[in-house]
Amino acid sequence: MKREVAILGATGAVGQTFVQLLEDHPWFTVSVLAASERSAGKKYREACSWKLDSEISEEIRGMTVVQTDLKSIKEAGNVDFIFSALPGNLAGPVEEEFAAEYPIISKASAHRLEEDVPLLIPEVNPEHLSLLPIQKKRRGWNGFISTDPNCSTIQLAITLKPLMAFGLRKIVVATMQALSGAGYPGVASLDIADNVIPYISGEEEKIENETKKILGVFDGSRVRLANIALSASCNRVDVRDGHLEMVFVELEAEPSIDDVKRAFRSFVGEPQRLKLPSAPERPIIVREEIDRPQPLYDRNAGRGMSVTVGRIRKDPIMTIKYLCLGHNTIRGAAGAGILSAEFMVSKGIL
Ligand code: NAP
Repeated sequence: MKREVAILGATGAVGQTFVQLLEDHPWFTVSVLAASERSAGKKYREACSWKLDSEISEEIRGMTVVQTDLKSIKEAGNVDFIFSALPGNLAGPVEEEFAAEYPIISKASAHRLEEDVPLLIPEVNPEHLSLLPIQKKRRGWNGFISTDPNCSTIQLAITLKPLMAFGLRKIVVATMQALSGAGYPGVASLDIADNVIPYISGEEEKIENETKKILGVFDGSRVRLANIALSASCNRVDVRDGHLEMVFVELEAEPSIDDVKRAFRSFVGEPQRLKLPSAPERPIIVREEIDRPQPLYDRNAGRGMSVTVGRIRKDPIMTIKYLCLGHNTIRGAAGAGILSAEFMVSKGIL
């Protein structure tokens, strides 16, 4: 029996990617699509300006989009758990209302930094799921909220995890983030064509704060933030999908570049050992070419779930530097949510 899921924000950039990735999912099937009042009552094909390059089934295209409230979702179909791709400013109270009854896996930022809410990357901090029983007890919910990190944070944290063996001290990161990261319709074409915008609201704070929580240690009752210093600078660039990040890292040890490459290449987590359906064989792919990774060629590595790393070099000020690239709507959003759900199923949480 497949588990039945609702998608909140189903018509947006992330919601569409959820729909696409769940089309033939072996464990999950979409039973409810929800969005704003603007879309509610319309067929999905009419409500949604489909922006992905694959076709979706007639069954999904013909589903009626419902309003995002508990009553409408309950009436629309059976729901075992919910993926939320709501705008961050709306997600706070709405997700709490749903969590009283349903498990929620959220792509929105509203609850990420709350003390009893996991900020999960299954390869990196699976033990943080131990926050869920604490959260349910404290809040008296039947369901729960688990969150996935911001899209540029996920790929950075995946590459930092294997570097922790060398003693992580300081990280400086400059991002070049794709247009789909701003949702649909996103940035106006006259603002971004022939241009780079050196500011993305709230993004630098998200990278700096979320990374410390993700790499922190669960001490039995809460997550102790990682003792690292982090500085982020974010830019929007004229690329459709795929965030590229220039990362400078100061380490306690002085590993050789071969040691660093080995650490990246050999990194696997529980999703790989469990062979979860969405887990890439290799979470990190190391490219040796001098001019890779590039969004156009590397964003779909590992079906969009691998992070590609390249140009790994010694740094004269810090210890090492490299570039990393991840698909922002797959590993950075819907694919991350689906992998989190698969991991929770494998652990008996869903
Ligand atoms: P988006 O393209 O703007 O889509 C927003 C979705 O929310 C649409 O389905 C929209 O429905 C719905 N919505 C808007 N107002 C609503 C309301 N009042 N009530 C209920 N639903 C409402 O945004 P997105 O890029 O998919 O992002 C969704 C979330 O994921 C955000 O929190 C974002 O920060 C996060 N995220 C995005 C990315 C990415 O790469 N894009 C990556 C990681 C995380 P209508 O079509 O009916 O307006």
